[in-house]
Amino acid sequence: MAGVNDDGATGDDETADDDGTAGDDGIAGESDATRPPAAASVALDGVGKTYAADGDGDPVRALDDVSFSVADGEFVCLVGPSGCGKTTLFRVVAGLTEATDGRVLLDGTEVTAPTTDMGVVFQEYHLFPWLTVEENVGFGLERSDRPAAECDRRVDEMLDLVGLAEFRDAYPKSLSGGMKQRVAIARALAVDPDLLLMDEPFGAVDAQTREMLQRELLDVWASTGKTVLFVTHDVAEAVTLADRIVVMAAEPGRVREVVDVDVERPRERGDAAFAEYVGRVRELIGAHP
Ligand code: ADP
Ligand code: MG
Repeated sequence: MAGVNDDGATGDDETADDDGTAGDDGIAGESDATRPPAAASVALDGVGKTYAADGDGDPVRALDDVSFSVADGEFVCLVGPSGCGKTTLFRVVAGLTEATDGRVLLDGTEVTAPTTDMGVVFQEYHLFPWLTVEENVGFGLERSDRPAAECDRRVDEMLDLVGLAEFRDAYPKSLSGGMKQRVAIARALAVDPDLLLMDEPFGAVDAQTREMLQRELLDVWASTGKTVLFVTHDVAEAVTLADRIVVMAAEPGRVREVVDVDVERPRERGDAAFAEYVGRVRELIGAHP
């Protein structure tokens, strides 16, 4: 994948990049962790969501008083058991579902509707089957007021970024799950959003592809400097990716704890520190109040 290579990310080769960006990966994690919430790219302030009862059931308190922030350029994962409100939170942040209480701020502005300041990636690929890879990636751009030449250039850049340049004329049905999700990521990034918001984006691909996509996403993150809020129920995935992990609990959906992942990237699943974080987060998820 273009942009950042594995060696550059470790930051121990000072001559790796002529623009001096070698080691962005580790540096970004350290500096952002120390930023005050005021610099938050995303801030959730007492967010609650109650779904009205349908039929004779009770209303569901899907989220209760959820507050946390994601700093500019930070990679935050949201983990928790099935039904703890992760997708609800994702939809509220995306402006797709209205919160019952509290609010979400994106760069200080309240989110009340979907905005092109966020690139959104769903678990299901949500690609347009009648459009080619190139047309899918350019979909949001076409609807912006950018000149056509700029849109074309941007689509080319995004296809290179996710390694799909040679598949530009293919239709989604001929692509593997991993490739489809690369298209979805390229499409989300094409409009140059401030925030990349993802809900279990790698849930539908096999384990090997999943680990490859995780590495690629970290490369994209390091080379673009985007803020990422990534929802998953896979604890090892969260420990692989995140600067910080927001651990949720269910009934009502709420934040149990926020865990700083203080391990250099790239992280190795076999390392003792990695296993320790996985154990700790699993324990938090399994813990009862
Ligand atoms: P997760 O993504 O963590 O599995 P969800 O956000 O999908 O959790 O769901 C949280 C809770 O809200 C669950 O109890 C679920 O049944 C309920 N829920 C989700 N969406 C709706 C909806 N549209 N209407 C009513 N209840 C819902
Ligand atoms: Mg979900």
